[in-house]
Amino acid sequence: MSASDVLVLAEIQRGMLADITLELLAAARQLTAATGGSVLCAVLSDDGQSHASALAAADRVLLVNDPQLAAYAPEPYVAALCEIVRAEQPCAVLIGGTSIGWDVAPLLASRLDIPLVTGCRAIQAEGEGLAVTTAFCGGKLLADVQVTARPAVLMVLPGSCRAAAAPGRAQIEVRTLAAPLESGAVRFQEWVLPAAGDVDITQQDILVAVGRGIQQQDNLALAEELATALGGAVCASRPVVDQGWLPATRQVGKSGMTVRPKLYLAFGISGAPEHVEGMQSAELIVAVNTDPKAPIFDAAHYGAELDALDLLPALAEAATARKGEASQSA
Ligand SMILES: Cc1cc2nc3c(=O)[nH]c(=O)nc-3n(C[C@H](O)[C@H](O)[C@H](O)COP(=O)(O)OP(=O)(O)OC[C@H]3O[C@@H](n4cnc5c(N)ncnc54)[C@H](O)[C@@H]3O)c2cc1C
Repeated sequence: MSASDVLVLAEIQRGMLADITLELLAAARQLTAATGGSVLCAVLSDDGQSHASALAAADRVLLVNDPQLAAYAPEPYVAALCEIVRAEQPCAVLIGGTSIGWDVAPLLASRLDIPLVTGCRAIQAEGEGLAVTTAFCGGKLLADVQVTARPAVLMVLPGSCRAAAAPGRAQIEVRTLAAPLESGAVRFQEWVLPAAGDVDITQQDILVAVGRGIQQQDNLALAEELATALGGAVCASRPVVDQGWLPATRQVGKSGMTVRPKLYLAFGISGAPEHVEGMQSAELIVAVNTDPKAPIFDAAHYGAELDALDLLPALAEAATARKGEASQSA
């Protein structure tokens, strides 16, 4: 136990460790390089041991095994986490800015009467406290927050820190709680997964993604033309789906699909955190936007400050011509 330690909450979904966990561990490692503390990782599950080997990036993995933790439910989760935080007294508790995180983090902070910072994009140790950059209004505004109270709960935006391969072996500790966990009023019922629909965008190597910048439904044909020429599929940000221009199965992001294509072309998408969460693991991201300050350029490997409606037909034409040349020479 040390006031310079950083505690990460491992996120488990459908029995699997969610990607955000490794991002949080990388953020915690950067922080402890300055605080001099250890990286702790709390695994709340009915079978924490099965996840322990994937958490080598931590110094200590704290397993709480309990049947009440078999699936996520706020009451037993927060009760277990409160006990760990009280015992370890870390300087910060890092929780993902995910659906589960939005549930757990405010409850934990209010139960322990400690500060909560949401939307964290960068966290640094500064003097005795923490300097945190947070994003709000869909990533359009950033604020610098000084956190002096310890511990503090920090909800970290997915994609803020790149998960790094971590050699080494964490020390595994099985924790027995002081009191048995009880199920609360909110209980897990079942996972409801969206139907794959006409095209399963999670299985595509190339995605042509369109956002509100596409302006009208008719312009979707431009994206379809490019996707066909490239052998990919069209997907979209939430406003396009909300307007009924494409089915929900084509939505990328927090409340849509998580995609990992080889190429993600984003046309007229601002890059709100909720969208970036679903596409940040693409191998190559190219963004086209008329606004040079659009946050999508922070997530993209390449960017072009251009009108999507001009570029889409030109790209489709070039791709179709290239395809024709390739088939002639074959
Ligand atoms: C709980 C919750 C869950 C959410 N889940 C999701 C989700 O799963 N997926 C998702 O996408 N969003 C989600 N959102 C919404 C998200 O916050 C954003 O509102 C949304 O992603 C914005 O979509 P957009 O980028 O298409 O539109 P906008 O933010 O309106 O951006 C349009 C962009 O197009 C650019 N543009 C305009 N005209 C052109 C042009 N001719 N050429 C090039 N660029 C142009 C503009 O500069 C702007 O950057 C969620 C929000 C909440 C609160």
